[in-house]
Amino acid sequence: MRRVLLLLPLLLLAAAAYHYRYQWLPRAAYDGQPNRYRVAIDDAQRRAWVEASIWVDSTYLSMFDVQAVPGLPEGIADLVEDLQVRDAEGDLLSPRYLGVGDYEVRPGQRLSLSYSVRLEHDDFTWPAGKEEVAYRSADGWLFKLSSLLFADGGPAMQGPMEIRFELPEGWQAYTPWQRAAGEHSFLAANRRELLNNVAFVGRAHAETIQAGGVEISLVLGSRYRDAVPQFRDLLDRQARTYADLFGGQPLATRYLVVVNEGEIGDGGAFSNSFSQLIVGDADDAGRVVWGHTMAHELLHFWNGLSLVPADAREEWFKEGITDYLTIATLAQNGFYPEALVLKRLELHQQRQVLARLLQRLDMSLRESGQEKAANRLLVYGGGAITGLMIDAELRSRSGDRFGLPDLMAALYAEFARADARYTLDDIQRLSRERLGVDLGPVLAGSAESSQIIDPTPALAAFGLRMHSFAEEIYLSRDPAADEAARARFDAVFAPTVAEAPADSTAAMP
Ligand SMILES: [Zn+2]
Repeated sequence: MRRVLLLLPLLLLAAAAYHYRYQWLPRAAYDGQPNRYRVAIDDAQRRAWVEASIWVDSTYLSMFDVQAVPGLPEGIADLVEDLQVRDAEGDLLSPRYLGVGDYEVRPGQRLSLSYSVRLEHDDFTWPAGKEEVAYRSADGWLFKLSSLLFADGGPAMQGPMEIRFELPEGWQAYTPWQRAAGEHSFLAANRRELLNNVAFVGRAHAETIQAGGVEISLVLGSRYRDAVPQFRDLLDRQARTYADLFGGQPLATRYLVVVNEGEIGDGGAFSNSFSQLIVGDADDAGRVVWGHTMAHELLHFWNGLSLVPADAREEWFKEGITDYLTIATLAQNGFYPEALVLKRLELHQQRQVLARLLQRLDMSLRESGQEKAANRLLVYGGGAITGLMIDAELRSRSGDRFGLPDLMAALYAEFARADARYTLDDIQRLSRERLGVDLGPVLAGSAESSQIIDPTPALAAFGLRMHSFAEEIYLSRDPAADEAARARFDAVFAPTVAEAPADSTAAMP
């Protein structure tokens, strides 16, 4: 610890020196031209060839999302080869490599880049899963664009982003961006929309569906073509429920959803897209996993991408509240019978217990968000249990006038804007001012606590009992629960839709 403290001023000084090295030079103004990328995919050679012309305002030419993985100390940046950087006159530059995908460049100039990326992402293990980086499916390639592209590494990047793919014969590009003139050409509004999204290139089955007023392009691996009606039904019902709950649509109106087969069922949500892997068939029995993942990622278009926390300390809110509301809304829409609701809640309690007892995590739930992948048991488990506790507190303290959905709607009204970020203080303020409930005590015993969270009072508020031994958790309905608690459980977890009759598709007489 002492060493780190002594080193810190030196590191800061070095960082300042980098920063100020170019500050004294006259800096050219943005030339007004778009940033252009051309990505040629050589599927046989497993290589992407990239050429780019970009305006760089900062002193950094960077790859984003660079993190070490076993075998690649510099993560995705280690797969880049033959980088050549030229200035506007075409002169070859030799920018200094600063590590973790960053090069030092003179600010205020247009750079031309040429490099290739070895498409070997499948050979490595990525902390959040390959569906959030890049992979080859039977039908083509999925990329998160940050795995392929360099950009201005400063706080913002000027100008729109044009991207054109050059693809093997018969392949198509499926992206969340606006189409532009020219084959496989697209226009993204800004750096975030380009880099913080996935695209799929290949021969996949694709169709566009309307889900609760949101346009979703579904891109499916061949195994999932026949599952379109099931995906559409779930996405449509869930999107309508989310729009009601948050009191509005998500910030973007068009989304891309890519579903392929994987060895591990998982998903990741980005600015206007999500990427999901399903194990085996997308049938009714498996919906407890694939449907949950799909509903969870869809909910992130509201909580996580429209509502964005100020920093990683509210990862528990982003992930935990999303998962708690995923359980509640899947139940309301008739996808989860009561037994699955209880099992899902048991699993979250089990996760936070295992994080503390087995993984021996000793930071607070809020602090656990700094290392989300490593601490996922705590972030998701503790976060969802805290969601349950907030919901119980709001309902019981307001005489069931308000619940967690009202808090989310209040947050949404104030913070669902491109430039707004919320903090824990905002959550507490809105709860106090709009709903008349002080969440301080509940948060002190959950989000801010470094102990196993005790959900017993919250469970009792929903008429539930917990029997547990270490990591064994069993929830059941408490026969002695009062009418208010029973009604509260039904308000949150009972189906609100009548089950469609089995013969509903039969012709009317
Ligand atoms: Zn999530």
